[in-house]
Amino acid sequence: MTSLDDIPVTQLKGVGSALAEKLARLGIHSIQDLLFHLPYRYEDRTRVVPMGSLRIGDIAVVEGEVMKADLVMGRRRSLQVTLRDDTGFLVMRFFHFNAAQKNQLAEGTRVRCFGEVRPGRAGYEFYHPEYQTNPPAMPPAEQATLTPVYPLTEGIQQPRVRGLCQQALSYLDRYPIKDWLPPALLADYQLPGITEAVRLVHLPPAGAPVHLLVEGKHPAQQRLVMEELLAHQLSLLQVREQIQAREALPLLPAGDRAERFLEQLPFSLTGAQRHVMADIRQDLSQPVPMLRLVQGDVGSGKTVVAALSALQAIEAGAQVALMAPTEILAEQHYQNFRNWLEPLGVELVWLSGKVKGKARQSALNAVAEGRAQIAIGTHALFQDDVVFQRLALVIVDEQHRFGVHQRLALREKGVGGTLAPHQLIMTATPIPRTLAMSAYADLDTSVIDELPPGRKPIETIVLPESRRDDIIERVRKACREGRQAYWVCTLIEESEALQCQAAEVTAQELVERLPDLSIGLVHGRLKAQEKAAVMERFKDGELDLLVATTVIEVGVDVPNASLIIIENPERLGLAQLHQLRGRVGRGEQASFCVLMYHPPLSNNGKARLQALRDSQDGFFIAEKDLEIRGPGEVLGTRQTGLMQFRLADFERDKGWIEPIRDMAPSLMREPRVVSALIRRWLGEKIRYGDV
Ligand code: ADP
Ligand code: MG
Repeated sequence: MTSLDDIPVTQLKGVGSALAEKLARLGIHSIQDLLFHLPYRYEDRTRVVPMGSLRIGDIAVVEGEVMKADLVMGRRRSLQVTLRDDTGFLVMRFFHFNAAQKNQLAEGTRVRCFGEVRPGRAGYEFYHPEYQTNPPAMPPAEQATLTPVYPLTEGIQQPRVRGLCQQALSYLDRYPIKDWLPPALLADYQLPGITEAVRLVHLPPAGAPVHLLVEGKHPAQQRLVMEELLAHQLSLLQVREQIQAREALPLLPAGDRAERFLEQLPFSLTGAQRHVMADIRQDLSQPVPMLRLVQGDVGSGKTVVAALSALQAIEAGAQVALMAPTEILAEQHYQNFRNWLEPLGVELVWLSGKVKGKARQSALNAVAEGRAQIAIGTHALFQDDVVFQRLALVIVDEQHRFGVHQRLALREKGVGGTLAPHQLIMTATPIPRTLAMSAYADLDTSVIDELPPGRKPIETIVLPESRRDDIIERVRKACREGRQAYWVCTLIEESEALQCQAAEVTAQELVERLPDLSIGLVHGRLKAQEKAAVMERFKDGELDLLVATTVIEVGVDVPNASLIIIENPERLGLAQLHQLRGRVGRGEQASFCVLMYHPPLSNNGKARLQALRDSQDGFFIAEKDLEIRGPGEVLGTRQTGLMQFRLADFERDKGWIEPIRDMAPSLMREPRVVSALIRRWLGEKIRYGDV
């Protein structure tokens, strides 16, 4: 039987090849795709609002009579049309208009218009509202429906998409959408069937509860939300299945190097580190690839866990790859691992994008011939010309730049190309439980829920930019007393170039103001060796003060640094600030973090910085960040599309996460359902590897 999935959009009236191409850009090819192009909000045009009751920001329909229509010169020429009803006034303002329009809006004409209330020079105004002159009577309340608003792409207007979706609805009678969810499940949660739900969200019936629809809580919307979240969950479980369908080399604990490593550490493992190691040891000894996420707050000691895991693989005669997201971090791991593992007779190589020529060739040879037992580097570790002889464990540190598809690709990199490597993923930031269950459903999770003993709390101070002089003085004093400090310049996150520039200017200023200190600068545009050299000097205590961009955000470990100044903290997410702050508080001395903000701070901004001042619990902070900025920010995956939903809103809908986790395994037993749901909700994302 034909299904809606097989009927191309070109069957609809008015869809030629040009429009079809634009729709394709939205991932819409079939009628079914169009029906799953869902409105992300609604406008309430069901009733006329009295002008006297409007407030700034309201989006509303008003109706009245034109009092006057004037051409106003000002900074930009505009047509200013003043409307009046029994309760007040409203101005429609047009910056683009023609003579016909002006004539049409002559004094005394009745106008109904729809727009957003803004404060303007003539009182409350609508800019470029949709409007109708001499409108027909409003439908009675019981026939009125909400107006859906759809995501758009360039060259398609809202009314167009609305019209197409309405046309598509007419196919539903002949071709109902296949409902893949078990009826019992729907009954349990009192949710409607799929066809009914889709029809309702595109065309809410008259009298449907407006507030539920506007908030996205109508059962029809929730039915779709649930299915969408479920589809995401299934897609991750499918990735897991695909990886674990391969065999892995079982890495049985052997030899005494782990023991010798532990003996030479100046501390013993925390209980939490031991628990997590027990999980990992167990996983590694299986003939199935490990897929484990280790979460731990800043400074909880994830690196030691990585080293011990690596040793288990090395003792079993296999190779390990350790990947970090930045050159600085990879370099630091390389140094650490060399200090720890070389004395135990382990061979290491360093492979970053910047290692070139002979050095690269000899590293590649060492990896290919199996001489190198552990290769440390950035993404460069997995370029095509890097061939491991016996790769059995991949450790990814500071996970958030590493996606599902990359995990999937790793499967091909194992021993002989047939055995998949074990994967150990370490997150930079703690991730709230619900979010972890949903974003990392393909991974098992272990949490290092304890910090090493003797950590002193970091005192966090929130100060305005106007106290800059005092803050500089504070840096001088701390460094004179033999401590070290970071000065972090944040600017527009997106622009690496501007960020570097700002750091250069600040470094220059600090060099002038603090002539007795030795000051270094690192930013993302330095060459790898230059960066490494500066970091090395800071680590060795040759530099008192390190001016840096957020490149030092994750993982950098210099225990003698006990003061960190963060400029413009209001621009960063809480989790990121917590990471930055975690650069201090790693040694014996009391540590301080100064958040130097740029006034004025919004109330929300104030609350965020206070949350950071009052808590040092990374999980709590991540929870707050999730509430305030959403999952993309917490996971750092804004670019990759992970957790970007059509309808679901993580905060609003997180109540579904647990039920979905429980229902997913049984659905996984029906591959047809799984692939249909994934295709329905994630179709193109999966194909293009965005997730
Ligand atoms: P993160 O989890 O943030 O990556 P690191 O692995 O960099 O943390 O560890 C932070 C610091 O704590 C390092 O200096 C490390 O040597 C130290 N450390 C790790 N484990 C312990 C422990 N059990 N006791 C004391 N110090 C530890
Ligand atoms: Mg780390």
